[in-house]
Amino acid sequence: MMTRLIQALRGSGDQSAPGYGRVLQPGIDLSHKVILYLDDITVSFDGFKALNKLTLEVDAGELRCVIGPNGAGKTTMMDVITGKTRPDAGTAFFGQTIDLTRLTEPQIAHAGIGRKFQKPTVFERHSAFENLELAMKADKRVRRTLSARLASEERDRIAATLETVALGEAADRLAGLLSHGQKQWLEIGMLLMQEPQLLLLDEPVAGMTDAETERTAELFTSLAGAHSLIVVEHDMDFVSRIARTVTVLHEGGVLAEGPMDAVQNDPRVIEVYLGR
Ligand code: ADP
Ligand code: MG
Repeated sequence: MMTRLIQALRGSGDQSAPGYGRVLQPGIDLSHKVILYLDDITVSFDGFKALNKLTLEVDAGELRCVIGPNGAGKTTMMDVITGKTRPDAGTAFFGQTIDLTRLTEPQIAHAGIGRKFQKPTVFERHSAFENLELAMKADKRVRRTLSARLASEERDRIAATLETVALGEAADRLAGLLSHGQKQWLEIGMLLMQEPQLLLLDEPVAGMTDAETERTAELFTSLAGAHSLIVVEHDMDFVSRIARTVTVLHEGGVLAEGPMDAVQNDPRVIEVYLGR
């Protein structure tokens, strides 16, 4: 299993922290098909509960959409999953065995959880190809095995990843010259270089054109299965295009969960959205 280095690219933390080796060796135990298990998670900020006994279960290979009004706790949930925020109470497991509440952010990234923030953070002065190369090189184990030249296998993997994120034609273009949507795809490509099992995407289509949004829907649909995805998004057309199961968060907990049409017709959900 490749390690995950997007966190390192962002300059956070120590990947050789104690316990890191122990995390990786058992791998991700998916014997119960569950890749993410949150139970009774509470996060308080000065007494205000951003998450209030949140319980969520995501199966391996799922594409889960999470919606909810502003302030519902969606970003805080992602912060808990990635170790950025420690819950005050509750359980958070990655697979059956990896207790996320005991790991640091870099350890969680290494264990196989990749996060895409809303704003793209690519290296503007490097080509799309080089961005993926940098994402890979930040991986210490890869860097150790590579000399000055990229092994052809690695180059193939970069080219394949560029194809996956619809940037095959733009391999040599400077990232700074890509459209907003292409930059988002490039950053997803950078995440994919770390081979994450679980991808968290916060408002991925915000600011995209209709065509880019459509292409992103295809991309996410194609990634599901081999990966598990949790997508937070306000664009309901996009959500209804990609969603299998939708979870609606409200006031830090799950208000409703199910297929998109059931959720959309749920009176409690309608009230929460229309009541604002
Ligand atoms: P969402 O992403 O669903 O819009 P957030 O998870 O960002 O919601 O926020 C949930 C609630 O927690 C909001 O009321 C927000 O103001 C509050 N909150 C989030 N982060 C902090 C923080 N670091 N300190 C204080 N309050 C916070
Ligand atoms: Mg948010």
